[in-house]
Amino acid sequence: MRFTNIPGHSKLKERLATNIDEGRVPHAQLFVGEDGSGVLPLAIAYAQYLFCENKQGQDSCGECRSCKNITAFNHPDLHFSFPFKLISKKNELAKTYISEWREQLSETPYFDLQDWNEKCAIGNSQPIIPEKEALEISTKLSLKSFEGGVKVLIVWHAELMNATAANKLLKLIEEPPDKTVIILTTNQQDRLLKTITSRTQLVQVKRIMDADLMEYLVGCEGLDSERAKSLVVESEGSYLKTRRQMISENHHQYYFNHFQTWMRLSYQKKVVETFNWAETISGIGREQQKQFLQYCLKMIRQCILGNYTDMEMVKLHGEEREFMNNFSKFVNNKNVMQLTKEFNDAHYHIERNANPKILFTDLSIKIIRLLRKQ
Ligand SMILES: [Zn+2]
Repeated sequence: MRFTNIPGHSKLKERLATNIDEGRVPHAQLFVGEDGSGVLPLAIAYAQYLFCENKQGQDSCGECRSCKNITAFNHPDLHFSFPFKLISKKNELAKTYISEWREQLSETPYFDLQDWNEKCAIGNSQPIIPEKEALEISTKLSLKSFEGGVKVLIVWHAELMNATAANKLLKLIEEPPDKTVIILTTNQQDRLLKTITSRTQLVQVKRIMDADLMEYLVGCEGLDSERAKSLVVESEGSYLKTRRQMISENHHQYYFNHFQTWMRLSYQKKVVETFNWAETISGIGREQQKQFLQYCLKMIRQCILGNYTDMEMVKLHGEEREFMNNFSKFVNNKNVMQLTKEFNDAHYHIERNANPKILFTDLSIKIIRLLRKQ
């Protein structure tokens, strides 16, 4: 992660890089801000700049060995610690979840605890950083670094350390091992021990300025300025929020494309093509399949609304509305109840781990039959 790839915070990036350039690297820092502002990405970019073998213009090069290792989240001297759910004695260490952690970081370093819980499939339970993890951190940092230089530890959501873990960490900050840089990140500074915050250098990560986010979305993500503007208005200075919004819009388009294909093939009775389609949709992952089925249910409801109100109450626009105009005549009082039931049942069974390929093939046959009921 290079500073350049992080939206906003130009002054802060400059200050962080200058500190490193001038050899003023505090042994313990506390990055405070919301996940969506870029607290974790900034901490990673800071570590990458610190390790980079070919620093240029106050940013890491992105190409040297160190940078490549960090990009793969596999640098031997960059350690991560983070909250996780305690299930058994076996998983009292964050490294139990290291593959999920790397996967999450490579998808995006903009995520919050809710995303993290989903990634680890632990539902709504509160993850913590337990004592044993703090001990592991101390041990790791007391060893010599692999590359002979500094070791960096990033603790994500440090406020979720339990009391004993926090005291262990405090000790580590009070008597840091040689050549060690500790970066704690949090969105709730007041939940940390006062003795910890007073011994760390504070780095405030404020919300991303609208103009900066706008510039990033247009310049780096290639959005047209109209779309970028509407995203920025809703963002509240959080790139995480913006990213979620973009994904949900993309999904929407994706679901529409699938729904349109599926229904067209079905009412044209193209059986072989419908089965091929079912095979495609069975590969998109269970969560998405559930959302797709909900989308289908929404579209069926809109068909009925359209039929009864002459499209007046239909809340669809653009190509969705256009498609609905033609498709709604296939949905009527002879098949709507059954269609709704079939989509609902499919959702129920996907949730309970039914084989998606069999399920969507079977559902396709039913839909072909139901759409003929005129
Ligand atoms: Zn580099």
